Amino acid sequence: MEKKLIIFIDSGDTIIDEGTEIRDENGIVIHAELIEGAGETLKALYDAGYTIALVADGEVQSFTNVYEQNGLGYCFKTRTISEAVGMQKPARIMFEDAMEKNNLKDEDKKRIVMVGNNVKKDIAGANQFGITSILLDWSPRYDMNPASPEQIPDYIIHKPAELLPLIEKLNNDLQ
Ligand SMILES: [Mg+2]
Repeated sequence: MEKKLIIFIDSGDTIIDEGTEIRDENGIVIHAELIEGAGETLKALYDAGYTIALVADGEVQSFTNVYEQNGLGYCFKTRTISEAVGMQKPARIMFEDAMEKNNLKDEDKKRIVMVGNNVKKDIAGANQFGITSILLDWSPRYDMNPASPEQIPDYIIHKPAELLPLIEKLNNDLQ
């Protein structure tokens, strides 16, 4: 059964370990490893009936390559990628694109979460857009300390496996 809660999710250091990325001469990612537990979590969310929308900065071909290799591409109902949109998070248009692709309206915002690792992009973008923000602080690559109130996440998790129970709780709270 389709769940009420809608998941927007980042890729780099949220699902994929950016430290393992291998790029070709054009800068396109041709290989990358998953963060431990991320693949299982994504599949479990998909199997539970959640709509999952990729909202990620990078090149379209990079995500095609990575998610074809790891076999998780089917988990994303839609893909919003900055190269195709023309701007990166926290730009509002990235979130609007994901809304449009999933036929979501303003009144649906209360049932949408954005999951990401970057307080300046994912968290500030979600907060400014008016959807719930979830920070995964697994990666030490970026500064996790909010530099302004809009960068403060609504929820913090430390590893991908913590996402499923949090999502289930937030979905139940909607009923
Ligand atoms: Mg990221």
